[in-house]
Parts: sequence; C-alpha cells; structure tokens
Amino acid sequence: MFGKRKERGKATIQIADCTGCGNCIEKCRHGVIEFVYFKEGRYARIKDNSRCSGYGKCANVCEYEAIRMVKIMNYEL
Ligand code: SF4
Repeated sequence: MFGKRKERGKATIQIADCTGCGNCIEKCRHGVIEFVYFKEGRYARIKDNSRCSGYGKCANVCEYEAIRMVKIMNYEL
C-alpha cells in the first residue's frame, strides 16, 4: 500500500551555464550549493540536495538561468 504522495522542488544546476558569480550561494540559507574551483575559475554545484527547501530563491537570482527547480516525487510510508 502506498502512502501519501508529496511533491517538492529541488534545485539543479546546469554547470555549462554557470558563470560562478555566487549569487545563488549568497541567497541560499541552507548551505545547499557550493563552489568548485578549477584552473580557470569556479562554478556552482549542488552540495547537499536533501537540505533544499525548494523555495527557488537561488534560481530567482541566477541571471544566467543555470538553476532549475525540478519536482521530485516522494512517498511518505
Ligand atoms: S547564480 Fe547562477 S551563474 Fe551565479 S554561481 Fe549560481 S548557478 Fe552559477
């Protein structure tokens, strides 16, 4: 028997579109996003998606549309 179904959004980052500006990291209060540094610069990636509240503030401040909120289906058992 399935439990009650819930829908939540989770942040995903298209790394190819990220400029590494850091706006999303400043906006996220849950520490979901972190920088990865490489020789030519940096980009943002999801560090811990389980902490994502799904509000999408990070996506709203990304001027390059690198962040998308994706609905993930969860089941409460
Ligand atoms: S706001 Fe967008 S472009 Fe800036 S670091 Fe975050 S994902 Fe990358």
